[in-house]
Amino acid sequence: MHLSGIGMTSHRTRMRMIERLRAQGITDEVVLSVMGAIPRHLFVEEALASRAYEDVALPINYGQTISSPWMVARMSELLRANSALNKVLEIGTGCGYQTAVLARLAKLVYSIERIGPLLTKTRIRLHKLQVRNIHLKHADGLLGLPDAAPFDGIIMTAVTTHIPDTLLEQLAVGGKIVFPRGSQKQNLCIIERSSQGYAEKILEEVNFVPIISGVVKK
Ligand code: SAH
Repeated sequence: MHLSGIGMTSHRTRMRMIERLRAQGITDEVVLSVMGAIPRHLFVEEALASRAYEDVALPINYGQTISSPWMVARMSELLRANSALNKVLEIGTGCGYQTAVLARLAKLVYSIERIGPLLTKTRIRLHKLQVRNIHLKHADGLLGLPDAAPFDGIIMTAVTTHIPDTLLEQLAVGGKIVFPRGSQKQNLCIIERSSQGYAEKILEEVNFVPIISGVVKK
């Protein structure tokens, strides 16, 4: 694996992506420095590597997409809210880029993916990149991971019309879920849990692939 990369996958290209994210309003410098350190081109097919630092979502096979750098930065910033995270759950591992970012922002990351072969590839990739503080699970993320709960952050990288109670219950008091809500029209949404209950905030319009229940084995 070419960790450093050349030309469109070089450190300089990655730094330009960080500058762009900053100019577009990402203010959390911790998130920016983490994204500046992770070789995003190693998370897409080689044929697409030269486009890895553009601000676009790219195909990662199995009909799925790697979220754009802006989306990853924005969701990470919202989840972190300027404080270190302890235990985080990600639903929709995909190529593992967001997982790798979260692994540097939290002590421990659990990530669930429903497509078995996609997760197998991602598992190998994250192992090679020596991302260690993660647990990857092949399962239906809508059920969460009751055995590992409560989480201080949950991030969902596929769109849903609502968050099931089973997931809400796995949120620690003081924790939050960041996810895209909707169907045709989608918005980023944050649900925060306090001792009073749950409060929801609707943010900017976004575009994600849908959450699907059940798992794909082959
Ligand atoms: N963060 C990923 C996003 C991938 S797209 C990346 O940047 O690569 C969304 C992912 O969610 C897909 O891999 C899809 O298979 C997965 N997904 C959809 N429904 C799911 C579910 N119920 N449980 C777990 N993963 C799910």
